[in-house]
Amino acid sequence: MINKINVLLVEIRDLKVNNSEEIEALRIKYLSKKGEITSLMNDFRHVAAEEKKILGQKLNELKEQAQKKINELKAGYENQSSSDDSIDLSRTAYPYHVGTRHPLSIVKQEICDIFGRLGFSIAEGPEIEDDWHVFSSLNFADDHPARDMQDTFFIQQGIDTLLRTHTSSVQTRVMEKTQPPIRIICPGRVYRNEAISYRAHCFFHQVEALYIDKNVSFADLKQVLLFFAKEMFGPDTKIRLRPSFFPFTEPSAEMDISCNLCGGKGCPFCKHTGWVEILGCGMVDPNVLENCGIDSKVYSGYALGMGIERITNLKYQVKDLRMFSENDVRFLRQFEAAT
Ligand SMILES: [Zn+2]
Repeated sequence: MINKINVLLVEIRDLKVNNSEEIEALRIKYLSKKGEITSLMNDFRHVAAEEKKILGQKLNELKEQAQKKINELKAGYENQSSSDDSIDLSRTAYPYHVGTRHPLSIVKQEICDIFGRLGFSIAEGPEIEDDWHVFSSLNFADDHPARDMQDTFFIQQGIDTLLRTHTSSVQTRVMEKTQPPIRIICPGRVYRNEAISYRAHCFFHQVEALYIDKNVSFADLKQVLLFFAKEMFGPDTKIRLRPSFFPFTEPSAEMDISCNLCGGKGCPFCKHTGWVEILGCGMVDPNVLENCGIDSKVYSGYALGMGIERITNLKYQVKDLRMFSENDVRFLRQFEAAT
């Protein structure tokens, strides 16, 4: 045993390494539970009593030397690795994760781009509004259900301040300040007092467009709608208009597009009709023009409005509206390629 200890002492004294992995390998070789020095320590128990004193000293010396040598090697390697020579400037950079745009922002931008190409400019307004800009100026009768607390968030009861229920309030603000021609598009967030479910939320997003000039007719509106539908959903998209009612337009219509999932043949998404509703529109009611100081005998115009969530659902088949506001990155990262 004494010979073995002497051999190991020489071996350890002369140890050399090239990297930190080798140091760890040496530590395992000599000092781990199954290492050479540890097994010598185990053998020591069977040594005759008269030899124990000398052998014990030698063994302790060996263990100390081994530990010291490994510590020295480690210290030397750490000093070396922190020197400037070890920085590899040719190494490729860490991958850089690019964030994603929200699907609603992607679709909003796309809608604004399409109308931008038709000469519409973007107008924005406050989300906290008053009754005049949200309801009265837009021809809502005093007993219209939208004025009810159950449909509208009032900031303070009895005070004429509320969260806008549609972006039409921005149209009013622009018409009050500007004489025609007016050609604007108003994107923004709106609020309604609805129970939150997969198909309804207490806040959502709209885009409205307004065009007022001399001799604007329903035919102009129809062409703009057709252009928008083809740009947004593809060149084969067809549109149809159904008569409807809104307080601020007369006549009013709702527009359907041919179902972009089944191409109009009928599927569960379009309830087998081949059509899906996407927006409301109409000629601006003369009362609204007069309310905003525009001469309705000289000027006419059209307005249209759509929910951005609705268009996004159609484009990406998002089945639950709540996904848009839950900030789940597993959902949001799916739109990386679309940005
Ligand atoms: Zn369909």
